[in-house]
Amino acid sequence: MPKLGQQYGRRHDSRFALHGRQPRASKLDRRQLILCRNDPAYAAALRLRVSDPVRWEAFLGGRPHYEGKVCPKCCRSSRRTRDGSCYVCLLAKNRSDWEQIQAGIMPKAGRSRAGYLDMQERSRRERAGECLTFSVGRFTAQQYPTGRLAVQAPEVHIDNPDLSKLPGPTVVSLCRRFPELRDVLRWAGWSVPA
Ligand SMILES: [Zn+2]
Repeated sequence: MPKLGQQYGRRHDSRFALHGRQPRASKLDRRQLILCRNDPAYAAALRLRVSDPVRWEAFLGGRPHYEGKVCPKCCRSSRRTRDGSCYVCLLAKNRSDWEQIQAGIMPKAGRSRAGYLDMQERSRRERAGECLTFSVGRFTAQQYPTGRLAVQAPEVHIDNPDLSKLPGPTVVSLCRRFPELRDVLRWAGWSVPA
């Protein structure tokens, strides 16, 4: 966090034009570290912008965390050198994978290896033609090992290979128009709209 009266230096410093990077404290990354090691003037200019000397030392030492101000939310004091943020709170936030990657955190794998192998095996069985079939009134449905639910009702021009791809409201309105579809969903273990 900047301190009141802190002197940052010029906003655009032409000395660093060839570095392709102006000294900025908001994201202390590896690129800035290399510039600091190679160019003392760059290091001096960046130092002015980093208000916490402990964070600065951690950055120069290549340490990802440092002990900083206590976080008012979680009461921990471990902060990320990169942006000074509270690491505990950052992980606790329900961020999307993409946001985590942008913040420099590798997201957790969505699936375990066992889960991945299980899905591969299900895909193989699906390709081999394995499925359960259900018929009710004008409707016919197939449920595949991957969970994909295909529905056909030629009389009313429905032929959908993967019902889960339809937006929820569309499924709800189809259920209103075609009560048999409720039976199909119930059979497939879906939650059935009221
Ligand atoms: Zn926190």
